[in-house]
Amino acid sequence: MSGSDKPNKIVPLKGKKEDAAPAHFAGLELPTFEAGWVWLAGAGPGDPGLLTLHAFNAIKQADVIVYDALVNDAILAFAKSDVEKVYAGKRGGKPSAKQRDISAKLVELARQGKRVLRLKGGDPFVFGRGGEEALSLVEAGIPFRIIPGVTAGIGGLGYAGIPVTHRDTNHAVTFVTGHMAGGDLPENLDWAAIAKGSPAIVLYMALSHFGEIARLMLENGRAEHEPVAFVRNASLPDQQVLETTLGCGVADLERKEFKGPAIIVIGEIVRLRQSLDWLGALEGKVLKTDPLGNRGELDAG
Ligand code: SAH
Repeated sequence: MSGSDKPNKIVPLKGKKEDAAPAHFAGLELPTFEAGWVWLAGAGPGDPGLLTLHAFNAIKQADVIVYDALVNDAILAFAKSDVEKVYAGKRGGKPSAKQRDISAKLVELARQGKRVLRLKGGDPFVFGRGGEEALSLVEAGIPFRIIPGVTAGIGGLGYAGIPVTHRDTNHAVTFVTGHMAGGDLPENLDWAAIAKGSPAIVLYMALSHFGEIARLMLENGRAEHEPVAFVRNASLPDQQVLETTLGCGVADLERKEFKGPAIIVIGEIVRLRQSLDWLGALEGKVLKTDPLGNRGELDAG
């Protein structure tokens, strides 16, 4: 435990809706949202500043926005004042039927001649069922565009001061979901191979199964003292980071009453946070200069 699990303050994007930057910037041609199209966009992990220009442009022009639980009001506030907002959040373990409804709704709205923005947290193609929805659009003959977003497992970790790869710790990273459609831990994954082969593991939707995952890691050769970080509400003003280890993770989660949504990262890269917690530094945290204790051994390149 590093004691650094206190929330970091994040300065929210300033300005009211009217002050928002124009959708078209000098020298930058952004596409026009045509009626009857669906744009499937990622909103990033939460901080409105992490929207891409394409996503911002889409929000500005959309007639209807079908959005998920992880898309916040500060982002929706960029929309036209008469925009129709449709909440399509899924909670609990019954997503399958609902997913069909969402795809059908997108098709229906597009056929009504609307500019339909399907806005998802993070990146629409990363554990976001964006692929499934896009396939439904293809089947229905609806024209669409994909707007990638900053995924929580990369950008969210960046806000916690944890690089997803680092030359001295890992040359590979594995992104894993801890949740299947029915809510169980995915069984079709070779957890032993992941434990043995991947120096860094980033887990989405895995908080409730962390105990099981940690056990699988330990059984397959990972060390009890291997660092783990949990990042809750990454990039939002109430972001919270819990640094712990594979051996102590479950107890620490309970003790801190740590809740989701959280991204989890297992691996030596977590140690870099001692040096790279830039949000902590804004609040006076002193950053270390040699988090891995190997200064001097590095080559100059
Ligand atoms: N498409 C999204 C992931 C959707 S799955 C993306 O690319 O980020 C939902 C999971 O994403 C959550 O359970 C959590 O593990 C993670 N997540 C999304 N936003 C997050 C945030 N702001 N902070 C922490 N975890 C987040």
